[in-house]
Amino acid sequence: MKVAVVTGASRGIGRACALRLAEDGMTVVVNYSRSEAAALEVVEQIKAKGGDAIALRADVSDPAAVKEMFKTVWKTYGQIDVLVNNAGIVRDEYLLMLTEDSLNTCLDLNLKGYFYCAQQAVLKMFRKKSGVIINMSSVSSKMALAGQSVYSATKGAINSMTQTMAKELAPYGIRVNAVAPGFIETEMIDALPDDKREEYLKNVPLGRFGKVEEVAAMVSMLASDATSYLTGQVIVLDGGLSL
Ligand code: NAP
Repeated sequence: MKVAVVTGASRGIGRACALRLAEDGMTVVVNYSRSEAAALEVVEQIKAKGGDAIALRADVSDPAAVKEMFKTVWKTYGQIDVLVNNAGIVRDEYLLMLTEDSLNTCLDLNLKGYFYCAQQAVLKMFRKKSGVIINMSSVSSKMALAGQSVYSATKGAINSMTQTMAKELAPYGIRVNAVAPGFIETEMIDALPDDKREEYLKNVPLGRFGKVEEVAAMVSMLASDATSYLTGQVIVLDGGLSL
């Protein structure tokens, strides 16, 4: 049975990915940093359907916590086959309003956290000479949204990192791809004021926001052997928004 680690899986896109990968027959590590009850609920849901999962708390912007989490995964399962680097935050602030704290929080989680998790996962994947890493990017890496200079910078960096890691790790049988979702119905989107929601919706050719299950379906495909020849790609999943 394959083992998948999904960061930020207590809600939103990460939760949907955890549920979907469990449906695909994988054992799932449900990572979270604060929302323990929600993470345990995801685990329960997986177990209720006959799957296997554990919830592990780790702030993935903290390298020591990440190391500890992967140590536990290794001790418990002895393998790591799939990493979904998903935990991320938005800090929408115009350049001149941008605080040092927002800048650091965003860079630490959305960028450095992806490196910390990839390093720990790859150390284990090397042993099997196989593995899949899926990085959650964003359409913000492809098109400009005012106020998102830091967020989009982290997501643009994720795209570049995906390409480079894919090249580095291909000789070891490890594939690395990214998914760049557009507007997906999650708490991140719920937090938008109504006028902003309407404005954004007008620009989506498919006329609606995406569903977390649709992102999870793409992650499932990227994690599967159906995409065994695909690496280093950023799959834009945005209802046509960036066209
Ligand atoms: P969300 O609903 O806000 O969920 C974020 C998840 O990350 C939660 O499970 C949260 O758990 C966890 N998390 C936050 N800080 C963490 C930390 N330091 N360490 C570990 N886990 C942490 O977010 P989402 O909308 O599903 O977004 C998920 C990813 O998709 C992000 O990378 C985001 O940039 C990307 N994305 C989202 C959209 C969208 O429309 N929603 C579009 C494009 C890209 P805790 O509460 O336990 O901290």
